[in-house]
Amino acid sequence: MKLEQVFESYKENIMPTYTKVPLVFVKGKGSKLWDIKGKEYLDFFPGWGVGNLGHCHPKVMNAVRDQISKLIFIPNNYYHVPQAKLAKEIVYWTYPAKVFFCNSGAEANEGAIKFVRKFGKGRYEIITFENSFHGRTLATLAATGQKKYQEGFAPLPEGFKTVKFNSLEAVKGAITDKTVAIMLELIQGEGGINIASKDFVQGVKKICEEKKLLLIVDEVQTGMGRTGKLFCYQHYGITPDILTLAKALGGGLPIGMMVVKKEIADILQPGMHASTFGGGPVICKAALASLTAIQKEKLLAKAQKSGEYLLGKLNKLKDRYPAINEVRGMGLMVGLDLNISGKPVVEKCIEKGLLINCTHDTVLRLMPALNITKKEIDKAIEIIERSLIEVLK
Ligand SMILES: *Cc1c(COP(=O)(O)O)cnc(C)c1O
Repeated sequence: MKLEQVFESYKENIMPTYTKVPLVFVKGKGSKLWDIKGKEYLDFFPGWGVGNLGHCHPKVMNAVRDQISKLIFIPNNYYHVPQAKLAKEIVYWTYPAKVFFCNSGAEANEGAIKFVRKFGKGRYEIITFENSFHGRTLATLAATGQKKYQEGFAPLPEGFKTVKFNSLEAVKGAITDKTVAIMLELIQGEGGINIASKDFVQGVKKICEEKKLLLIVDEVQTGMGRTGKLFCYQHYGITPDILTLAKALGGGLPIGMMVVKKEIADILQPGMHASTFGGGPVICKAALASLTAIQKEKLLAKAQKSGEYLLGKLNKLKDRYPAINEVRGMGLMVGLDLNISGKPVVEKCIEKGLLINCTHDTVLRLMPALNITKKEIDKAIEIIERSLIEVLK
């Protein structure tokens, strides 16, 4: 297909649910992407948080190739080895737990919402936070604390109370005898890279223990090394009751998971919840390969170090450009909060071969692969600076 034919087909045949950048990509390797015209791009936002390993990591490719030639799919009424291995691995790196396999972040959160309702035996209210994002299904939309995503989809499922982020008072004020859980992103990704304070998170955990509430930590975006630890909650000295994962978990392939504390995990009995494709052999092999790569290639330490380097560079830019309000981040999850609209800056960056994202209107979001090099960071900073200069002219 030629470029024009691709655009034409999208226009005619695909529902227009995404704001699109007019680029057609054909190949990726590490932090590089190539479009159909052969132009090279540096990808500082690979896969909206999916690409923690960059594009086409060789370990993931080999694992998928190997598994695809043996067994592509086996449903969940049978057993298979890759699922057994992946579950064991995730439990090893988290806490005593049992996992449920699904295919996306929304599905993982939807599962968590169903789980806490079974757990609650009549208690059903979940406290969530302003500017949170938990997915696009009806229940996860109801949990999402941003009205713009909910408009026109009423009635949404009941039982969600949205309160101010980072405010323990707000949490305490929202608890009733119907409350069963608190659902929290430790760093709000879609909400603009807002970082939960340690006091707040530990306070929430304490409230959960006192009031017998479950703490659901949504690490769909922060998980798998993004913040310099395998899971972001490990920065906070707490353990979730339910952890939800997706995005980077499968090394680029679609997988979601909820990780539920062992002592309560058997609440969901046969027939109560399911997902046909959840945890198939190919995707489990990809996720295992991705976990191996994170360990073997020391990507957690790299994310921490590169994150500090990137933040340092961005803070230097901030000193020179009053258009930059604030630089926020943890590991390689970084936001550059502007006091101008971010969209034209993103467009200039893309023109110059750097792919980044803008969220919450003014926040440039940088989430490069964990194996990004210093040289690549320098190049990205240089393009961002040139783009800023042009927009400010
Ligand atoms: C992306 C995201 C989701 C939704 O994941 P999907 O796979 O798109 O359904 C949920 N929570 C957070 C924090 C996310 O970043």
